[in-house]
Amino acid sequence: MTDCPNLATCSFFKKYEQDASMQLALQGFVNKYCKGDKQSQCVRKK
Ligand code: SF4
Repeated sequence: MTDCPNLATCSFFKKYEQDASMQLALQGFVNKYCKGDKQSQCVRKK
């Protein structure tokens, strides 16, 4: 599975990247969506 093409510019990702308390949730999300098989289901992508 390739990374989402939006990962570098994604505003969702950028927003939570700054928040230390969100890192764990963000990692889980990124692995499932941005870098995983749920990528096509991402609501941000629409
Ligand atoms: S999968 Fe969604 S949240 Fe993740 S980088 Fe792509 S558009 Fe952004």
